[in-house]
Amino acid sequence: MNKCPYCNTTYNEILQTGFVGCAHCYEEIEPLKEAVEKMYNGKKHKGKRVKNGNI
Ligand SMILES: [Zn+2]
Repeated sequence: MNKCPYCNTTYNEILQTGFVGCAHCYEEIEPLKEAVEKMYNGKKHKGKRVKNGNI
């Protein structure tokens, strides 16, 4: 779903304004949900670093 049934905010509106309509938007609007999940995954580093010249 690209639209929140609680506040009728669409994903495009959120992209344009940068604001969500309500807390449910994060769960109801699929692209937004995925974006948030990706954001959190990106922040989680498991500490696996590859050193150059150590192959
Ligand atoms: Zn909403």
